[in-house]
Amino acid sequence: MFKKILLSCLCLIGVGLFMVSCATLPPRPEPEPLPRPSLEPAPPPPIPMNVRTFPDFVALIAQPGETLSSLASKYLNDPSMGWFIAEFNGIASLTPGQEVIVPLLPYGKGGLFLKGYQTVPIISYHKFSKDKADVLTVTESAFAEQMKFLKENGYRVITLDEFFDFLDFKRPIPKKSVVITIDDNWYSVYEIAFPILKQYGYPATLFVYTDLILQGRKTLRWDLLVQMSKNGIDIQGHTKSHRNLNKREGQESFRDYFEAVKKELTESAEIIRKRLNKDVKYLAYPYGETNPLIIALLMKLGYRGAFTVERDSNPFFIHPYSINRSMIYGTFNLREFESNLNYFNDKMFR
Ligand SMILES: [Zn+2]
Repeated sequence: MFKKILLSCLCLIGVGLFMVSCATLPPRPEPEPLPRPSLEPAPPPPIPMNVRTFPDFVALIAQPGETLSSLASKYLNDPSMGWFIAEFNGIASLTPGQEVIVPLLPYGKGGLFLKGYQTVPIISYHKFSKDKADVLTVTESAFAEQMKFLKENGYRVITLDEFFDFLDFKRPIPKKSVVITIDDNWYSVYEIAFPILKQYGYPATLFVYTDLILQGRKTLRWDLLVQMSKNGIDIQGHTKSHRNLNKREGQESFRDYFEAVKKELTESAEIIRKRLNKDVKYLAYPYGETNPLIIALLMKLGYRGAFTVERDSNPFFIHPYSINRSMIYGTFNLREFESNLNYFNDKMFR
């Protein structure tokens, strides 16, 4: 009997102890996993889509993936007009979230500003060589260096048509615009200058005198002119024989002189028109010389403009039949080259 009571008591104590142990030692909760440091940066807050269109401009906030070129394509229907938006906003590129104004109408026609006016340098070349340089001949390495200089310093090479549209107040051009021209008809233009111009996507105008388009090795053939004409080189007139249009020859009467000049201007244009299926609108005067009679003839014959070799840049009010050009000598260093690239005149405003 005593044993039974003792056993019962022990059992009760055991149950009690178990209950006490259950009550005082709850099961440990699983430890919370420590937050791991994230390798991915937190996603940026979304950029609000905000585009407001006004009659003269669009105000917007740049979205990821948008560029100046894509905005120009979307709002101006011309991806090459990215500079137009960049210059208006005073920026070089676009970053997401940036507020941008896209002007829908031309601004700065004629390049007139409060502090002065734009001038357009037109540079001119003649011959090129692998290694020899003189006044008329520029080496391959110097020409490549000059084109690279234009690219790296924000200059934009425009066509002659774009330049004349600027003169005519038809369209604005980039503030650091440059025109590249090459005179005569030497083979080295195709061999040396053409590949470098193509590499940079630069347009250029080649003024040829048609009597020099021969089958030899030193001058350009028609098939090469056709090829260049299809690849960014605008072929224009430099007369037929390269005579000095400003001087009478020998015993030439005034009538003979007048007829000879007329022939120089019409025949060369007709030959180019037939061979290249294009209009000749511009003339580079041989030796850069002209006079009022030649200018009157050019106007009568429908030429849009003509070029001297007066070393200066061109404002919008330059006479269109007496456009300045700066010859780039083969002896120039890069600093001398740059001194021919004046793109703004503020002297009158100081
Ligand atoms: Zn010439």
